[in-house]
Amino acid sequence: MIVLGIETSCDETGVALYDTTSWENHAPAHQGILGQALHSQIAMHRDYGGVVPELASRDHIRRVLPLLDDTLHEAGLKLRDIDAIAYTQGPGLAGALLVGSAFAKSLAQGLNLPSIGVHHLEGHLLSPLLGGSVPEFPFIALLVSGGHTQLMLVSGVGKYQLLGETLDDAAGEAFDKTAKLLGLDYPGGAAISKLAEKGQSGRFDLPRPMLHSGDLDFSFSGLKTAVLNQVKKFEALGITDSDEIATFHADLARSFVDALVAVLVSKSEKALRQTGCKHLVLAGGVGANLQLRAALNASAKKNRFEVHYPPVNLCTDNGVMIAFAGALRMLAENNGSTTSGAFDIKPRWDLASNNLT
Ligand code: ATP
Ligand code: MG
Ligand code: FE
Repeated sequence: MIVLGIETSCDETGVALYDTTSWENHAPAHQGILGQALHSQIAMHRDYGGVVPELASRDHIRRVLPLLDDTLHEAGLKLRDIDAIAYTQGPGLAGALLVGSAFAKSLAQGLNLPSIGVHHLEGHLLSPLLGGSVPEFPFIALLVSGGHTQLMLVSGVGKYQLLGETLDDAAGEAFDKTAKLLGLDYPGGAAISKLAEKGQSGRFDLPRPMLHSGDLDFSFSGLKTAVLNQVKKFEALGITDSDEIATFHADLARSFVDALVAVLVSKSEKALRQTGCKHLVLAGGVGANLQLRAALNASAKKNRFEVHYPPVNLCTDNGVMIAFAGALRMLAENNGSTTSGAFDIKPRWDLASNNLT
């Protein structure tokens, strides 16, 4: 079965084609990726310091058809070769979701194909199955993205249990807000990470929020405020030496990353202990963070669990993860569950509420 995937939940337009043959034959799942195309709107939104929903929707409209052409071209396929169409049904920006949903459903209707609405986070958390080292079910997923920070117990495709989540900012949001405070462009996650590599650990005593809260929830807004307080304190000193300013920024970035990573790693260890799982999966855009990966690798060695990552280019939003998650859902449901003809986006949507029974 060849599944077309369409992702338009936020500021990336992603299109991909996935062939389930390799998955069904227990071959490495990434072999099923036949073609993929992606357009990021980051440059368009940068001047506004964040995503502007109306601009996002309009740009998805402009991009989606040419991206589909590119994907078909890369795969060497025609529209008639497609067997099913998966699209991101939610969560995300309503207008942006509507573009992908309307496009997918119209195409499905025109080609007389089934369509399936995919939960965006299911796409993120199944994407490590497309990596080199494949996790075994059940596994714990640490999902750290621009909009979410969650620990999930994944017992199988379509079998998810939320163990804990952030009570305020998401990890990616904390990265982006901290980046803004340090004068870096939106979205600043990757830039903070680079800056932190040049910084010294331990210069600032930043909080490690909810480290000992006893549960698996997170909170990052206080950490961001602590960074703001340090910035204000430094500015009050009136220092003009550019080297000193650069060192301050690098050291503060380092302390921020250290604090955030310490909390993410400690709660992941706790989730593994609580459930007895031996496999951890890192998913979502912050999963590209090298300090987090290094800390998880060290913990895995010490605590004897295995940690798995999605291919780096599939950490942030993309069409492949939607085609893949849609394909696995359709296989699990014997191609049974397809969406109706009506618009049915879900801008707010709990993943576990969509479990297979
Ligand atoms: P959601 O999936 O929750 O709807 P999203 O799709 O916007 O949110 P992603 O695209 O998965 O989120 O991730 C984007 C986030 O990842 C941004 O906040 C970005 O700053 C962050 N990010 C990307 N690369 C890195 C990195 N190397 N280090 C830290 N953060 C990073
Ligand atoms: Mg994005
Ligand atoms: Fe995402």
